[in-house]
Amino acid sequence: MKERLEGVLDRIHKAALACGRDPRSVRLVAVSKTVSAERVRQAVAAGVDTLGENYIQEAREKIDTLAALPVAWHFIGHLQTNKAKYAVRLFELIHTLDSPKLAAELDRQAAKAGKTQRVLVQVNISGEASKSGVSEAEAGQLVAEIAKLPHLSLEGLMTMPPFFDQPEKARPYFRALRRLRDEIQQRNLPGVDLRELSMGMTGDFEVAIAEGATLVRIGTAIFGERG
Ligand SMILES: *Cc1c(COP(=O)(O)O)cnc(C)c1O
Repeated sequence: MKERLEGVLDRIHKAALACGRDPRSVRLVAVSKTVSAERVRQAVAAGVDTLGENYIQEAREKIDTLAALPVAWHFIGHLQTNKAKYAVRLFELIHTLDSPKLAAELDRQAAKAGKTQRVLVQVNISGEASKSGVSEAEAGQLVAEIAKLPHLSLEGLMTMPPFFDQPEKARPYFRALRRLRDEIQQRNLPGVDLRELSMGMTGDFEVAIAEGATLVRIGTAIFGERG
């Protein structure tokens, strides 16, 4: 695991340098869905400091078991409104805010918890029916609505392109997310600073970094194939 992690960190570093970026501007979210608490502990011992989980129930148990570890947990799965309460309790950053209704509920739960919840808006750039996320056309509107909610801090956008065997094919989707970010950013909405772009997974993270990713979500390359 340590070797795999070091290999991934080295590739992130090289990909950033190759396109003239500061390697520190790209952070690794180690995706630990279906990975046991014990193996997560090993990854943290090897240097991981941020973990991404997809399922609330699984995350509740794991985070409880690993409560003493000095790590940040991010939520990267589809979030149902009735689970917002747990998400606010468990996660520093939620990557997958995709509707006004979920935004309102996260704001309400964050207020109750006395917390400012950091969030990203998930955009369905490809428009595939199987993918969650707000459409590109609706993203600006959702951002403007979130900006009005006092207990949410909106920090950027997230996307998942279709799966391709060749990572280059994902590039237009990453580029489209960055352009959308730039365009919304130019509207200068009060309290909105979309500095984060969460994009890139095991198969395509180097291309995502070349297109501006600041958070790469990588599971398989670190933990091996999921069972
Ligand atoms: C599982 C998952 C990942 C990690 O995928 P790998 O191909 O294993 O790196 C990243 N992002 C999301 C949203 C995921 O569900």
